[in-house]
Amino acid sequence: MTKEIKHPETIALHGGEYRSDPATTAVAVPIYRTTSYQFKNTDTAANLFALKEFGNIYTRIMNPTCDALEKRVAAFEGGLAALAVSSGQSASAFSILNVAQAGDNFISSTDLYGGTVNLFNHTLKKQGIEVRYADPLDPKNFKKLIDDKTRAIYSETLPNPYLRPFPIKEVSDIGRKYNIPLIVDNTAAPIICKPFEHGAAVIVNSLTKYIGGHGTVIGGIIVDGGNFDWTADPKRQPLYNEPDPSYGGAVWGKVVPELTGANVAFAVRARVVLLRDLGSCLSPDNAFQHIQGLETLPLRFKQHCSNAEKVVNFLQTHKNVEKVIYPTLYKGEVANRAKKYFKGGNGALVGVEIKGGVEAGKKFIDSLKLHYHVANIGDARSLAIHPATTTHSQLTEKELLAAGVTPGYVRLSVGIEHPDDIIADLEQALDVVGRSKLKAVS
Ligand code: PLP
Repeated sequence: MTKEIKHPETIALHGGEYRSDPATTAVAVPIYRTTSYQFKNTDTAANLFALKEFGNIYTRIMNPTCDALEKRVAAFEGGLAALAVSSGQSASAFSILNVAQAGDNFISSTDLYGGTVNLFNHTLKKQGIEVRYADPLDPKNFKKLIDDKTRAIYSETLPNPYLRPFPIKEVSDIGRKYNIPLIVDNTAAPIICKPFEHGAAVIVNSLTKYIGGHGTVIGGIIVDGGNFDWTADPKRQPLYNEPDPSYGGAVWGKVVPELTGANVAFAVRARVVLLRDLGSCLSPDNAFQHIQGLETLPLRFKQHCSNAEKVVNFLQTHKNVEKVIYPTLYKGEVANRAKKYFKGGNGALVGVEIKGGVEAGKKFIDSLKLHYHVANIGDARSLAIHPATTTHSQLTEKELLAAGVTPGYVRLSVGIEHPDDIIADLEQALDVVGRSKLKAVS
């Protein structure tokens, strides 16, 4: 089905292989609440374990509801295969653990979600995997950090707080010269950005955000673009070219294309090695919720983006606003990147610096009535947060400034309510800030 359909609105509803339930002809994807699956006979069971046949064994590793979600998201992103996991955080961790082991390094953009920074700086470091940071303002910064042990480059399409679009093609071109894959976290820019079209090899998504879309369930997914040759330089990617003692000596870069006829070694290894061993699987109930979210994502995201543009226009004119941060407000090269990488919108995250620093920022947040004050983005509802004291609070002062989190910065995740109501709420909160400043002066 997916091959014939090209439009995201249609793929969101029909993409992948699922058409109707083979047992009941149910149209909506059923929730397969089962841990295990009856093997047809002992030969089939042996073949499934030896990866000579692909099929259901145990829900930690695969489940038909998760499978429908995985195939649909893979089609949606224009990739070949996907693996759903229990959170976006888990998807980010898997994407690195699937290429790097102790003694290896990877290069990451400095523009990152705070939770990813913690994962890279502390947990992965303790496993002996080194992160090297490059400022994406100049793509050449990535090249300077490559050595023989560099296994991947990691980035975010639309990272907050700066909201500068990542130079996907420029950096993936550098990586590909050295047989190094570019991994892109595309959480904040679904539909408007298609990282595989610009050379990314792997996409990571927190399903929790726009795809789930309603602030109800956590989930993550890794999509294999099927466009990277894992065997081109065996020394560069040892995990795909050396026998894996944990799986009967399988050489993943060779055995997966032989067995499947497809270039999906990354997705298969993530499933049969990492998910098998680390166990952070997505539950079928949560997969079902993410499928429901995906089906209306194109419609919702259009509204998110158009509301965000209106909010930006309003904030720019308000006397109590110091600065507005949004991809289209940059000049020069960064502005060109928004034009080059985003089609049909510029995302729904907006940064706003309220005049008056930390106290004004806090007053603004506390005065909002419609917006929720939560540590999340991508909900259908409008959200606001003060990153320095919440999402990024585990970072050191130096890390905070490197990540662009200034004391008075407020992040808005613009929802799909009527734009006039969103703006009215922002306006009344800005007025409260203004009145409290006047009181302090008098
Ligand atoms: N990537 C980005 C860009 C995020 O904003 C987040 C969470 O905020 C994550 C990954 C982690 O996702 P999750 O909360 O689903 O673990």
